[in-house]
Amino acid sequence: MLLTFACARGDASGWEPLRARGAAGLPVRWEQLQLSLCVAEMPAELGLTHGDLLDLVRKGVSSWGVERRVRVTFCPGVSASAEDGRNVLAFESASSAAPAHPYARTHLRTRRSATDGFEEIVEADIQLGSMAVRATRERGREALATIIGHELGHFIGLAHACSALKRRAAAVATPTCAELEAAAETLPLMHPALLDRPRPPVLRPTARERRAVLDAWVAPRAP
Ligand SMILES: [Zn+2]
Repeated sequence: MLLTFACARGDASGWEPLRARGAAGLPVRWEQLQLSLCVAEMPAELGLTHGDLLDLVRKGVSSWGVERRVRVTFCPGVSASAEDGRNVLAFESASSAAPAHPYARTHLRTRRSATDGFEEIVEADIQLGSMAVRATRERGREALATIIGHELGHFIGLAHACSALKRRAAAVATPTCAELEAAAETLPLMHPALLDRPRPPVLRPTARERRAVLDAWVAPRAP
């Protein structure tokens, strides 16, 4: 089962952090306590060094509070599209035949969990697109930090903020996402269209989003 989040321009549709759900409609979560995230080479036009990129990814991981669980390493030659048991962050190559790419996509491979009520994430790959490169060139590395921080949220198992509200809106008198957005001082990092909003850059998850991540990870078994 493969879940893909395409993060591109578009309307936000709930505001609360949401756990992604897999094929059977069950919430997804990691059940390994320690993960590696392999960072591949980046395109030269990005204008950063590998060290800069690794630093950005590590800061993103720390911003979610999972730096003890996710080890970030440099792995030249790996691909984000392969199902190879490795968790990869890579840039889509410029020669790729893929259609116009959004900022980024995160693919989660899941399987039935050994415990009821969950689907286990077994591999997660983050693929950064040409729009991420362009945004970095035009708006600086904060734009890339925003994109990576957001994709790491998907990597950990969160869906987009605002993605449930639309479904509930007809039946339940809740404010629309646009109303929440108009009233908010800052947008959640899992907002689906962060870079398209005329706001200061969002570089970190909200406290609620960080708490949702703790829920999204299986708790270590008591000794
Ligand atoms: Zn997204």
